[in-house]
Amino acid sequence: MKDLFFLSNICEVKYDVPSFSTFGSGGDLSCVVYPKTAEELAKAVNALNKDGIKYITLGACSNTLISDDGVDDVVISTQKLKGKEMSGDSLYLLAGEKTNRVCRFACESFLSGIEGLCSIPGSIGGGLVMNCGAFGRELGDVIEYADIFIDGKIERVYAKDLGFAYRHSKVKDLGIAVGVSLRLVGGDKYSIAKDMKGYVIARGKSQPKGKSLGSVFKKAGDTSAGYYIDRAGLKGYQIGGAQISDLHANFILNAGGATSTDFLRLADYARQEVDKQYGIKLKYEVDFVPDCLLGKQ
Ligand SMILES: Cc1cc2nc3c(=O)[nH]c(=O)nc-3n(C[C@H](O)[C@H](O)[C@H](O)COP(=O)(O)OP(=O)(O)OC[C@H]3O[C@@H](n4cnc5c(N)ncnc54)[C@H](O)[C@@H]3O)c2cc1C
Repeated sequence: MKDLFFLSNICEVKYDVPSFSTFGSGGDLSCVVYPKTAEELAKAVNALNKDGIKYITLGACSNTLISDDGVDDVVISTQKLKGKEMSGDSLYLLAGEKTNRVCRFACESFLSGIEGLCSIPGSIGGGLVMNCGAFGRELGDVIEYADIFIDGKIERVYAKDLGFAYRHSKVKDLGIAVGVSLRLVGGDKYSIAKDMKGYVIARGKSQPKGKSLGSVFKKAGDTSAGYYIDRAGLKGYQIGGAQISDLHANFILNAGGATSTDFLRLADYARQEVDKQYGIKLKYEVDFVPDCLLGKQ
């Protein structure tokens, strides 16, 4: 790793950081940069670009499987890029705000529209990239615009140009999301809170507790990937420390010391079985770092 002392004049930098994935796997990250503001992020990325240093972006790392060998590229973490501002029925959020906390904040602010997203364990920036969703609602439904660091400067891109589709947007192709504006609707705090509680209870009944890689595959047409994995007889199937949940077959549990290789081998086995038994080619919803990890299992 090159000497990156110049970054510490811009924002907080840490070296040899253990993977912070929510499901507990992945090797160390050589260098992590933690901008606290959009300006710090822009300065840090411009400095990296100037020196031709490669980097990746991570939010809460709830949807990114990191190689057990770790990451040598610099990681731009949005974990400390936090801030919320309300203006009428709009809510502006910096990319590192956690989606579940945003939902609770919206409720406290009498704003409705994202109740169903309240148990998604990622950042709002990661949610924007993935167009995360639950209970028939997607984040893209309420996005007004995103501020994205593109080619050296921050640009405002409106929802119609963000290419939202099922668990997809073109945000990552454009650059790094630094902030996002949600257009919500005014509502009654108590009924918003009641709906959110209902969604939390529903998730609690249908999804496993503890560390897991959730929503591993995208739906195949209108049918959930979990349906096919379940029908293939794979609930409870285990490779190393990774185990397909008995409760929800599209979730892979960290049953104890699971490595990213365990997760990947098990996911790929499920994918092959579903293809063999039903001729359905499941597509990953989860991202991989590095991309080539996918070919290595
Ligand atoms: C237990 C569990 C339950 C889940 N349930 C759901 C669910 O119900 N619905 C659902 O849709 N998803 C679900 N997920 C998946 C995941 O939580 C969401 O996709 C989440 O929105 C990802 O956010 P993140 O911050 O963790 O993203 P990360 O994993 O950190 O990143 C995801 C991708 O976005 C990129 N990225 C992150 N931040 C930025 C940024 N600011 N600018 C540009 N690129 C960026 C990363 O490079 C990566 O490619 C679940 C995951 C788990 C582990």
